[in-house]
Amino acid sequence: MTERLRVIIVGSGLAGLASARILREHHDVTVYERGGADTATGGQGISLFSNGIKILETMGFDRHRAGAVPCYGYRGFDKAGNQLQDFPIDFKGKYGADTLTMKRSDFRDELLLLATAPSAELGIQGSPAQMIFNTNVIDIDPEKGSIALEDGSVVGADLVIVADGVHSRLRHRIVGSDTYRAKKNGMTCYRVAISAEAVKQALGYLPTWWDPETANGRISALQAGDGSNRMIAMYPIRNYEYMNFSCLFPTRQNNGNVLESWYADGDRREMIETFDDYYEPMRKILSIATEVKVWELQDMDPLPNWNRGRAILIGDAAHAMTPMQGQGANMAMEDADAFRLLRPGTSHADIAAILEQVDGFRRPRATRVLQDTRVQAKDITMEERIANLDYNCGYNGVFETRKETQ
Ligand SMILES: Cc1cc2nc3c(=O)[nH]c(=O)nc-3n(C[C@H](O)[C@H](O)[C@H](O)COP(=O)(O)OP(=O)(O)OC[C@H]3O[C@@H](n4cnc5c(N)ncnc54)[C@H](O)[C@@H]3O)c2cc1C
Repeated sequence: MTERLRVIIVGSGLAGLASARILREHHDVTVYERGGADTATGGQGISLFSNGIKILETMGFDRHRAGAVPCYGYRGFDKAGNQLQDFPIDFKGKYGADTLTMKRSDFRDELLLLATAPSAELGIQGSPAQMIFNTNVIDIDPEKGSIALEDGSVVGADLVIVADGVHSRLRHRIVGSDTYRAKKNGMTCYRVAISAEAVKQALGYLPTWWDPETANGRISALQAGDGSNRMIAMYPIRNYEYMNFSCLFPTRQNNGNVLESWYADGDRREMIETFDDYYEPMRKILSIATEVKVWELQDMDPLPNWNRGRAILIGDAAHAMTPMQGQGANMAMEDADAFRLLRPGTSHADIAAILEQVDGFRRPRATRVLQDTRVQAKDITMEERIANLDYNCGYNGVFETRKETQ
């Protein structure tokens, strides 16, 4: 029987769970999560582009279970609700997979299922990842491949994957410096998910950009267009039952605790005031939002290395970027896919060299996506907004990338 590696993953966010799904087929995976089973489930939306979806499709991802809505392009509107532009995009034809929008909690539930469901149910080999919730990892030893827990215990493994998010407390142990931290970029985003039922009650109808008959699967953006750099981006989630609204504007005041949590509650009044010159139906929709989340956009300068010894950083801990291109979680799916290099039969002695390879091709690509995303933080046109799709969505996974670079 081939040796199975012992893999520890710190964090059950999108990066940690996708990696657990990839690795469970051939290795023994344990995920340590400081929160509970329902952690990281803020109810708003997330868009997974063709690059992420191609990888998810190899994992048995079920778009119907996740209530995913396919996206067929972008539409631009002014703040009075007039449609200015329409960019149809055949993501599947052009890049090999659809782009899908989902409720974030539905997506995470699907990843959790893929990481932990019985193998027979998924039709794969190996064993489910073991989930250890409510357990804070306080330190790691990258050279030994071990983690330290709050109760004083130390757990060893062949490989430690650090996927503890944008405010990673373990990053410095791998990078060797405490200077790499997320920095705010001066923009704030209010995020709300509003149900179609509530909007039908409030307006008596669904706007054309929401009604499935007329929306044509577009991600829509209502730009203020007056130099104020305000925009509301919308896309349908959970089979059109909800619409995600991301309301972006230059930060007005320091919101204190936002640095620590992107599930922080936002001030609905401030959100409505910020967009009070938008057309009446939009103002009415925002006014019925029941749960308002706020996040001051932030990213992190590219790291000098992601790996050290038997440990590697992935996800936002490695490459936090703002959502302006919607690529953060897609990068996390690509990171997870890179662990396919840990083929059956990989030994304890091989790990450091394989992590070096992963760093070698993942870090340059994530750095470029981060830099492109920084350009998109400005008040740019729709044409500029979609200019990077070929680079972002054209990615076909670890094995094709390695063929291209060899
Ligand atoms: C407003 C907004 C919109 C976005 N929209 C998109 C989008 O449309 N498309 C897209 O691709 N990306 C998007 N992103 C980015 C995407 O959400 C992130 O890139 C992604 O969630 C990162 O996943 P992660 O697993 O690295 O981190 P997280 O999801 O933050 O998970 C980290 C996990 O680690 C746990 N943890 C932390 N420290 C410890 C510890 N010491 N011990 C144990 N557990 C620990 C945390 O509890 C958490 O569960 C968006 C981000 C924001 C803020």
